[in-house]
Amino acid sequence: MQKLFVISGSSGVGKGTVIKEFLKKHPNFKLSVSCTTRPKRDGEVHGVNYFFLSREEFEKCIENDEFLEWAEFSGNHYGTKKEFVENCLKNGENLILEIDTKGALNVKRLMPDSVLIFIAPPSIEELEARLRGRHTETEEAIQRRMASIKLEIENSKHFDYKVVNDKVENAVKQIENIIFAK
Ligand code: 5GP
Repeated sequence: MQKLFVISGSSGVGKGTVIKEFLKKHPNFKLSVSCTTRPKRDGEVHGVNYFFLSREEFEKCIENDEFLEWAEFSGNHYGTKKEFVENCLKNGENLILEIDTKGALNVKRLMPDSVLIFIAPPSIEELEARLRGRHTETEEAIQRRMASIKLEIENSKHFDYKVVNDKVENAVKQIENIIFAK
């Protein structure tokens, strides 16, 4: 049985870029495709980035106990289908889930062999300064984002590993060290 790796990190820490770089170097790893009720962003493709579901469809999946875990994030539902994960692992694929910290802790409870990796910003002060520097969000939105980042950092204390994303290459190297040491 292959290993299941769960990677979480607050928005703005460049988690997506780190995972993309890792996958480019290691094409034998697969990224899980989650379901979400949030609207599709430009360039996103159903079945590739997410399975985009209506609220009703998502609720039906909850009722039918189809999710390994699901969570509400910024007013939208996100969930990982049991069937997707089980099929990948059955086929001997190495799987990475990119989900929030709450979801990650739920996966760990259900699948204790999974390995949780948290991607942290070099400093929260720097992250806050970066968010403010963009001048794209209101003060209220920044405060909300910072509160959620602090909560994610708090949850990450229960993770197996923490990787500080000071530079993408360094973060990828650290993830390789964790994954290939297993
Ligand atoms: P975004 O809307 O930016 O794609 O994702 C928002 C957040 O939802 C990110 O922190 C992402 O990791 C998380 N997320 C994506 N898919 C899932 C999932 O299946 N379950 C959980 N719990 N979180 C998810």
